[in-house]
Amino acid sequence: MSWANELTRQAARLALLPSRMRVPAALFSVVLIVAVTWLVYITGGTAYVYPYLMFFPILLSAALFGMLGGVTAAMLAGLALGPFMPLYVVTETAQTTINWVIRLTLLTSIGGFAGMLFQLLRHQLNTIRRLAFRDRDTSLPNRLSLEEDLSELIPPATADAEDNSNPPIHVVSVLLQNFEQINTSLGFRAGSQLMCEVAAALENVLDGKGDVYVLDPGKCGVVFRDMDSADCMMWVNRLLKQFELPVSVEDIPIHLEVTAGIATYPDSERLDAEWLLRKSALAMWTSNSIGQRIASYDHTMEGDMRNTLQLLGELRRAIELDELVMVFQPKFRLSDSQLIGAEALVRWQHPTRGLIPPGMFLPQAEQTALMDPLTLWVVHDVLRRLKAWRETHPELGIAINLSARNLLEPHLPERIPELLVEYQVEPGSLEFELTETMLLRNPDQCIRHLEMLANHGIRLAIDDFGTGYSSLAYLTRLPVDVLKIDQTFIRHIATRDKDRTITAASIDLARRLGMYTVAEGVEDAAAMTVLGELGCDAAQGFYLGRPMSAEDFTAYLGNPALARHH
Ligand code: C2E
Ligand code: CA
Ligand code: CA
Repeated sequence: MSWANELTRQAARLALLPSRMRVPAALFSVVLIVAVTWLVYITGGTAYVYPYLMFFPILLSAALFGMLGGVTAAMLAGLALGPFMPLYVVTETAQTTINWVIRLTLLTSIGGFAGMLFQLLRHQLNTIRRLAFRDRDTSLPNRLSLEEDLSELIPPATADAEDNSNPPIHVVSVLLQNFEQINTSLGFRAGSQLMCEVAAALENVLDGKGDVYVLDPGKCGVVFRDMDSADCMMWVNRLLKQFELPVSVEDIPIHLEVTAGIATYPDSERLDAEWLLRKSALAMWTSNSIGQRIASYDHTMEGDMRNTLQLLGELRRAIELDELVMVFQPKFRLSDSQLIGAEALVRWQHPTRGLIPPGMFLPQAEQTALMDPLTLWVVHDVLRRLKAWRETHPELGIAINLSARNLLEPHLPERIPELLVEYQVEPGSLEFELTETMLLRNPDQCIRHLEMLANHGIRLAIDDFGTGYSSLAYLTRLPVDVLKIDQTFIRHIATRDKDRTITAASIDLARRLGMYTVAEGVEDAAAMTVLGELGCDAAQGFYLGRPMSAEDFTAYLGNPALARHH
C-alpha cells in the first residue's frame, strides 16, 4: 500500500469527529479560554503579550466544529478579554472600549475564517474518502475498503499466531469470467450497469449475512464473519445459483459465467489481510482455470500457479524444438455423411509433464508475443500434411484456429499466402476460425487483415457462434464463409427446445447470407438427427470422431468404410 493510501486514511480519520467526542471537545475549548483569561489577569492585563494565547482555543474550535465553532469560541474569548479585563491590573486601568471591541472583531473574523477553511478541507477530505473507498459505478465499498476492514478484523501479523480463538472469517473472491467480453461487446456503460446488477443481486441474496465489495470491474468480494466453513460454502453456492438466471443489461438477457475462490482466516499460514485477499484470488483463478465453479484455497495452488508461469516460460523453446503436435478432428457433410475435412487443434507434448491440452497454455500465451510464432508453427505443420492428404483426397479442407493477437500485426496475415505458394496448397482448402469477440477488439485492423486473407481465396469461419453477445452487423462487414454454431447449443439440442430454436435461427441466418453452417460438439445420434432436420451443412463432435493424431487421420482417410461409418 502506498503512502497516498496511508495519507487518505489518516485524513479521513481527521475529518470525522465522532459524536461522542463532541461534548468533551467543546468543554476542553471552554476550559482553555478560561485558563488563558486567568493567565492574562495574573500576568498583569491585556497590555501584555498573553491575550495572543487565545488563538489556541479559537483555532481548535474552528478545526473541530467549523465556522460556527470558530465564531462562538472567538466571541467568548473576545468577551472574556473584554470590558471586565483591565489594561493594567496593578493600576486598575480599564481598556478603552475601542480596544476590546476591535480585539473581539478581529478574533471573531479570524475564528470564522479559519472555521470556514477547516470546513472546506473537511468537505474535500470526505470527497477523497468517498472516491478512495467506494466503487464509482456501484457505490459499494471497494478493494481498499476491504483491505481496511480486514485489517481491523484481523490482528496484525506480529500478533500471537497460535491464538486460534478468533472467530473464522471467510473472504470470497467472485469472478465474472465473461465480463471483459461483455464490456467489449456492449460498451463500458453496459459493463457498469452489469456491475450494479451483480452487486444488487449479491446483496439481495446475502441479505446482510455477508459484506459485499467491488474489487475491480468484473470482480467482487464477499466477507463472511463468525461463520463455519460449511455455512460459508452453502452461501457461496447460493450466490452462484443466483447467476444461473440471466442478468438483464440494456434489455439484453446476459448469461454470466461466475467462479468463486474462498480463503479462510485463521486457516491460512500467514495471518494478515493482504494475504487472505491474495489467497482467495488465487483460489478464484484456480477454480476458473480448472473449470470449476468454487475452490477453497489450499497451499498446492501456489505451486500450480507457478507451474503455469513456468510453462509459459518454456513455450518458446517448445515451439523451436517441435514439441507441439497437431491433432485433427474430422468434420462430416450431413447430406451424404462424407468426410470433408478436419479442424486442427494444437497439443503440447511436454518432455516431463506429458501431453498438455491447449487450455493449459494458450490463454496465457495469448497475453504474450508468442502467439505469432505458435500460429506460424501450426500453419507450417498443417500445410505440410494437407498437401500430402490432398493428393488422394482433393476435396479435403483443414481449419486452423486463429487468436486475436494474430490479426493485430500484418506479419502473419502477409506470411500465410506466401506459405500457401511454398507448399503448393490450394487456398480454398484452408480455413481460419475466429471468435466474434476477438474481432471486436480491433475491428478495423482485423477486417483489413481478414480481407487480405479472403482476397487470396482462404476461407474464414466464425467460431463459437452465438456466445459472443456481439451485434450481427459484423457478419455483413466481414468476408465470412462459415458459421460454426457453438457446442453449448448443440450438446442438448435433442432435448432443449430453446437450443434447437437458436440453432434453427442461426442456420437460417447463415443460409440467407450465403454462408455454410457447421455444428460443433455433436455427442450423440439424436443431435445428428435434429441437425439433419434443421438443414445444417456439416457437423463435428465426439460422436463423429475425437481429435486424432495426423497418423491416425491419414489411416482414417485411407479407410473409407471407417470414415463413412457415420
Ligand atoms: P475450439 O476451437 O472451440 O475447439 C473445439 C474444442 O472442443 C476442442 O477442444 C475439441 O477437442 C472439443 N470438442 C470437439 N468435439 C467435442 C464434443 O463433441 N464434445 C465436447 N465436450 N468437446 C468437443 P481443445 O482441443 O481442448 O481446444 C480448446 C480450444 O483451444 C479450442 O476451442 C480453440 O479455441 C483453442 N485451440 C486449439 N488449438 C488451437 C490452435 O492451434 N490455435 C489457436 N489459436 N487456438 C487453438
Ligand atoms: Ca475452433
Ligand atoms: Ca468452437
